[in-house]
Amino acid sequence: VADAIPASSSRLTAGAMRNAAAGDTMLMAELRDAITRGELGYCLQPKIDLRSGRLLGAELLVRWEHPRFGPLEPDAFVPIAEQTDTIGEMTLYLARCGLEQCRRWAAAGERLHVSVNVSANDLADPRLVDAIIEATGSQGHCLMLEITETAVMREPERVAVALPRLRAHGIRISVDDFGVGHSSLVNLRRLAPDELKIDRSFVAAVLDSASDRAIVRATIQLGHELGASVVAEGIEDEATRAWLATAGCDSGQGFGIAKPMPAARFMELLG
Ligand code: C2E
Ligand code: MG
Ligand code: MG
Ligand code: MG
Repeated sequence: VADAIPASSSRLTAGAMRNAAAGDTMLMAELRDAITRGELGYCLQPKIDLRSGRLLGAELLVRWEHPRFGPLEPDAFVPIAEQTDTIGEMTLYLARCGLEQCRRWAAAGERLHVSVNVSANDLADPRLVDAIIEATGSQGHCLMLEITETAVMREPERVAVALPRLRAHGIRISVDDFGVGHSSLVNLRRLAPDELKIDRSFVAAVLDSASDRAIVRATIQLGHELGASVVAEGIEDEATRAWLATAGCDSGQGFGIAKPMPAARFMELLG
């Protein structure tokens, strides 16, 4: 795996880079069939209300059960999927999976939402946006789409066209990894997101770093003034959760609350 899928190509020799490129091409071809072969799975990470501790929903995180390499994390194949049409098929498949989970939760008496990560290409493709809307039907309240600031900036015009269409069907929009991407406040205002997701690099240092505390507080205020709810990702301990709750952060996720888990395990948390 290490040969085929380097974590970073910054220090690779020319030979290793050729191997990596060949590995990417191979993975790209295999990924195309991974969905139909049923190799694409996902974990769910609970998202809770930081003050009450109430379960609000889950973020869906894709996993690939590769026949030879074993379970692959998204960093190993999402960037490759993004180079082809495969990303759209993957997103639509995962959105359908998330909506199916929501129906099960609703049948168990829990009104929860599922957050699905989308890439810039996805929202720039009007046919995919149509397909997501069609798959969602009357379940718009179940679905939140997470898009990074960087992705928004890659396709600002087309994303700005897609968002009102999704929103008209009750689908909500979250800006993921907020604070580390290349965003502008003008774009943020135009997107009018329903949620800002504070990047975990700020959350991790909140108890040790006065400047990170300042950034987190300012983000919470900015989100609220824009009418968005604010969620912190990467909460790893109780002290961080408590600080964020006091600072007015609405919701949170992190290993200290719950790690990403299989759908069946998430179902056991309900009720
Ligand atoms: P993200 O959307 O910011 O997802 C959060 C990542 O942080 C997840 O890693 C999650 O397992 C991890 N995480 C959660 N809590 C903690 C914590 O307390 N501490 C630490 N250190 N990490 C935590 P994962 O699953 O490896 O996903 C990485 C990235 O891959 C995601 O970042 C997202 O950008 C992308 N991704 C994941 N699933 C999908 C998908 O279905 N579609 C697309 N397009 N991208 C996806
Ligand atoms: Mg990971
Ligand atoms: Mg996310
Ligand atoms: Mg994130």
